[in-house]
Amino acid sequence: MSCLRDSIRQIGPSLQELIEAIENASTLTLLILSAWRLVRVLAVRIVEEVLIERAQRPTQWTECPKCGKRLHSKGFVPRQITSVIGTIRWKRRVGRCPHGCAIGQIAPLDNALGLLPHQRTSVELQRLGCLLAIFVPFETVSVLLNCLISVQVSGTSVWHWVQKSGQKAMDCLHRQLAELSSGQLPQMETLDEAVSVLPLLIGADGVMVPFRPEGGKGRTEWREVKVAVLARLGRRSKSNAPQLHQRRLVAVLGKIDALRPRLWLEALRQGVLTAAQVVWLSDGGTGFWGLYTACFAFYAIGILDFYHAAQNLWKGARAWLDGRSKKARQWFASARHRLRHGETNEVLSDISSALKLDGLPETARKALKNLYEYLNTHQYHIQYQKFKELGLPIGSGMVESACKWLIQQRFKGVGMRWSETGFNHLLHLRLAWVNGRFEELFALEDSPN
Ligand SMILES: [Zn+2]
Repeated sequence: MSCLRDSIRQIGPSLQELIEAIENASTLTLLILSAWRLVRVLAVRIVEEVLIERAQRPTQWTECPKCGKRLHSKGFVPRQITSVIGTIRWKRRVGRCPHGCAIGQIAPLDNALGLLPHQRTSVELQRLGCLLAIFVPFETVSVLLNCLISVQVSGTSVWHWVQKSGQKAMDCLHRQLAELSSGQLPQMETLDEAVSVLPLLIGADGVMVPFRPEGGKGRTEWREVKVAVLARLGRRSKSNAPQLHQRRLVAVLGKIDALRPRLWLEALRQGVLTAAQVVWLSDGGTGFWGLYTACFAFYAIGILDFYHAAQNLWKGARAWLDGRSKKARQWFASARHRLRHGETNEVLSDISSALKLDGLPETARKALKNLYEYLNTHQYHIQYQKFKELGLPIGSGMVESACKWLIQQRFKGVGMRWSETGFNHLLHLRLAWVNGRFEELFALEDSPN
């Protein structure tokens, strides 16, 4: 009956022990765990067997890149790689220049296998480590890898993998930005037909991140990361609550000017030029509204976050009518209600009448003037009644939470402080993940090297 176990048993005494452990397992859990141990040992053996076979084949020696002389074999040299199935060991021929040029050892089999000279872990293990590092600290990744697949790697190794693949993601972005600035438009991402008819929502926000000061010692420096979200705005079929599809994030540690080309690149990919409706949703940050005016005003309806507008109304009411008074609360409630229902002009006329009052204290005058200017500047962005009729959101909560999630969840843990380079690498890896471009960074598909 048990021909599979019998044939495995015959391979060698070490496997026999593993088979016995399976047969003696009393509980299902022990049964599964001992079978898993056997599977890993077998997997390593099979890979090693194939590698040893390939190493025996005749080697095509290339020429020395320095002097052009054909390389000579120096015999078989061991190599090992840590992988998701365990450590794989084999020997392969290495060659040297017969003239002694300083080109190191060349191993044609390594090249054929896609191995780099100093690589000690396989790409699928690095991918797994990077994937975990997107969500949890490097040291935790090391613990998880040990728990999940019994592979021992240090947090430092994981950190190195993240630097490498994060840099790859950044290089790719810089290439795309260079192409865009030379006039080449990026390819639009393919969308399901049902999603492609939905409005494209764009919004941006700033999130603070703790950095190590230069030199590493001293107080934490908080720096702002600009984050933007792009998504198609749909509705849940049952509750009719808003739902984001095809969510894409853009982020940069730097000024608005650095965010602008990145956001525009992503907006083109998400169909800003062809979407039936484009909506810009943001709170009062002047930098972001400047970006809206510069890039998106032509394509998008701009919506100022209603709660932010209401907050400013309250600031005005408090300065004008004394925040503790009933009158202040009454005016605020009525102004907020009128703002919500499209009666902006009446609110503005209330404010301009108040500004004409004799004996208005200077601080109150200043606050009211600011409020008037604020509402006047944003008059097209506060037509809340109209936005509601169009089925558009008037609060930027969705934008803010998407932006905060990107940063908060990973970069603001207890005691975390980042270097600029380390932050950027992990940020771009995290962006690659949320934007569905993570796999492109790891060559797991079969491709000629
Ligand atoms: Zn040479």
